[in-house]
Amino acid sequence: MSVSNQSKTNSSKNSQLEVRNTNVRIGEKTLLDDVSILVKPGEVVTVLGPNGAGKSTLLKVISGEIEPTSGDVLLNGRNDWPLSQQALMMGVLPQSSSLSFPFMVEEVVLLGRIPCTSDHQENLSIVAQALEEVDGLHLKDRQYTTLSGGEKQRVHMARVLTQIWTESELGKRYLLLDEPTSALDPAHQQLTLKMARKQADQGVGVLVILHDLNLAARYSDRLVILKEGAIAAQGTPAEALTRETVRSIFDIDVTISKHPLYECPLVINN
Ligand code: ADP
Ligand code: MG
Repeated sequence: MSVSNQSKTNSSKNSQLEVRNTNVRIGEKTLLDDVSILVKPGEVVTVLGPNGAGKSTLLKVISGEIEPTSGDVLLNGRNDWPLSQQALMMGVLPQSSSLSFPFMVEEVVLLGRIPCTSDHQENLSIVAQALEEVDGLHLKDRQYTTLSGGEKQRVHMARVLTQIWTESELGKRYLLLDEPTSALDPAHQQLTLKMARKQADQGVGVLVILHDLNLAARYSDRLVILKEGAIAAQGTPAEALTRETVRSIFDIDVTISKHPLYECPLVINN
């Protein structure tokens, strides 16, 4: 390989999030079974799968919360980033975030800026912009504990956004979202996926866990469908969402049609 090709290969490997042949076993149970996933900057990759399929476990392995039994996670080519540096390249919204102190919303979102070095005024400006992204600016001066479930979820989303708001010299940024729409009304579900798409368009790699097959089909570049810890299907939405895969993985009968408005499949429950 020529020197220039070699360096091109190296630099692309240093700008991706790679889960490589990862297994997680706890006692007799296999939570993840040889899972490999690649997320590139600019992509929205959606993980689907029934309850208990291993989706949250996968996210926890990527964020470093769970050590895999075997396999590797490479963030921009490295598996040994100090947490303080990882935080500047990876924002993680867990499936549930609890907080019972009487913080104001602005203070909660400001927590996302802790790993960053910018000054307080700039942080406040980023907090306001991130709240705007999730339709939450009007909540800024509310007490967090008085918010509805969906409002709390949007505030946490804003907090995670602030963490990776600016580009990092260390490497490309990634956003990992575990069921970010679970508490949201349909309009805010759509807003959240549009926001994820916008982040990707700005060069962030997005990995999002969803249950809604149509939201996934419309906003994702690729889908990865897990069943019992293993990848059961993957590809573009049109490749991964067939009548047969949906039946065998989710145990429901559907009709897959062409979306009348967008270039993606439309899943209709029979
Ligand atoms: P989901 O796809 O719904 O996010 P999870 O990744 O949370 O699924 O969990 C995958 C499976 O692993 C589930 O059956 C869950 O009960 C099980 N599990 C998760 N954590 C543990 C644990 N610490 N010990 C044993 N089983 C676990
Ligand atoms: Mg989960």
